[in-house]
Amino acid sequence: MTDINKVIATMATSKHIVILTGAGISAESGIPTFRGNDGYWKKGSKNYHPMELATLSTFHQQPELVWEWYHYRRGVCKDASPNPGHYASAKLEKLINSAVGKKFHLITQNVDGLHLRAGSTLEKTYQIHGNTNYMRCVNSCTNSLYNIPDDEQLPHCPECEALARPHVLWFDEVYDETFFKIQTVSHLASGLDILFVVGTTLQTTLPYRVVMTALNRKVPVVEINPEPTGIGERGLALFKEKSGEILPKIVDEYEKVIK
Ligand SMILES: [Zn+2]
Repeated sequence: MTDINKVIATMATSKHIVILTGAGISAESGIPTFRGNDGYWKKGSKNYHPMELATLSTFHQQPELVWEWYHYRRGVCKDASPNPGHYASAKLEKLINSAVGKKFHLITQNVDGLHLRAGSTLEKTYQIHGNTNYMRCVNSCTNSLYNIPDDEQLPHCPECEALARPHVLWFDEVYDETFFKIQTVSHLASGLDILFVVGTTLQTTLPYRVVMTALNRKVPVVEINPEPTGIGERGLALFKEKSGEILPKIVDEYEKVIK
């Protein structure tokens, strides 16, 4: 049996299919990864690393600088397009939604919104690190998310006039349920039947915990990553390929067996 056949056979009997995606799938759309050298941001003579800028403490000290970087990043994301990996994930959601007794969820570490633009729904998608297309009150006077006004360099909370901040999880912050669904996602990990781990290096705690929970439960884990983390070898299969190449093949094969 080939690896693809093994995966399809497992999917066919799975009731709850979950995909976890990281920076690798966005890199295939040309979005620089935070941890790579292309993640640096040049401003004047200075080269900023994301780890310096993506923190609440830098935001408190230099909100203009942090916002300028996020406006720039939002522009990069706007100019990028979803790739076949994003579309395959959205197609899988649709296929499973119309199948009786099956469930699908997507957990993404990416803040670029490309999954939603490819057709994944907010209802089934957990953006566990936020989404740079939205802002919220820095004082959390409300939990509402707002679109970022195009004409304001330093946007404010529409409710209380305090500063607004990008709706993302920063390096000096912790996951919560309100914005990042830590409990919901942890709960998913203990109920899913097959987990696809796509383009993530698992360097943040929640994605790591999701994968470890699945492996400890002996649930089939499929890794798709040109630079594997090693978890694929402990799981059902490893595809050392771009998600844009292998995910569409898997979803097309799966479509044949569930129709
Ligand atoms: Zn406010």
